[in-house]
Amino acid sequence: MDFKDLIGNNKIKDYLINSASNNQMLHSYMFSGREGIGKKLFAKIFAKMILCLSEDKPCNTCKSCISFEGENHPDFMQINADDGKSIKIEQIRLMQEKVVEKPIISNKKVYIINDAELLTKEAQNCLLKTLEEPPEYVIIILIVSNESKILNTVKSRCVKIEFEKIPDEEINNYLEKQGISKLSNVMLKQCDGSLKMALNIGEKTEEYNTLEKIINNMEKENIAAIWNNAEILYKSQDEIFDYLDYINVILYNKLLKINKISYVNCIEKVEKIKKNLLANANYNMCIDNLLLELWEELNEKHNRS
Ligand SMILES: [Zn+2]
Repeated sequence: MDFKDLIGNNKIKDYLINSASNNQMLHSYMFSGREGIGKKLFAKIFAKMILCLSEDKPCNTCKSCISFEGENHPDFMQINADDGKSIKIEQIRLMQEKVVEKPIISNKKVYIINDAELLTKEAQNCLLKTLEEPPEYVIIILIVSNESKILNTVKSRCVKIEFEKIPDEEINNYLEKQGISKLSNVMLKQCDGSLKMALNIGEKTEEYNTLEKIINNMEKENIAAIWNNAEILYKSQDEIFDYLDYINVILYNKLLKINKISYVNCIEKVEKIKKNLLANANYNMCIDNLLLELWEELNEKHNRS
């Protein structure tokens, strides 16, 4: 994996390549920006370059590059929320025990903290010590999707690199190169610059097209037909929040074309159902109600106008 394999954020790419090539890294970085735009991959390739022992980085042939690709580089460590919920102070303490040991293969050591917004307050305060006085060979990269969860004291000790959304055209070009069909404008809106989301939708274009059909048919068909053709919603409990978000993107898109209050009301109804689902309301009943309420809203207004 190399920077040339990644799309978007070219200025950041150039900056990181220059820093690593000229051995002008800083001690701590915060890679900030929405999910799915490549922050983790950028950080990993940056780490690989920093650790590479050759002039032309990453060379992919030195001992460091080979260990890195083999995921057993002793001077590289990633810290993750193991339970998906939080990164605990014990994990930072463990990291700090390793930080003081000199590098083994490379001249530097790189630590990436993924989803750093999940660091507990205690863990962040503990991390401060290392951010304040890092050994000269240590580089720490925090990957952050929600900056508001990071203490100001931690932020102020990191150089922030703000990642931008990936332009729609670049996303579609990338999908095409991967043999995945291009996304429609409404689908691209749902992605909002996230390649990760685009790949996810790219694998499910049929499902996303069906959702669009359901909403488009609301004003044409009776409620029984709507219920019958909405199987996708009933059987997709795992993806339902993505699908409901998409329904709102479709509705919002309609609103931009025709300024009707019923579209606004529908968007609110979808948000209400999301809350009910989060509160563990009966799944099928939620979907029944959602479809009925959207249908009533769209047809009631239709009749009135
Ligand atoms: Zn190398």
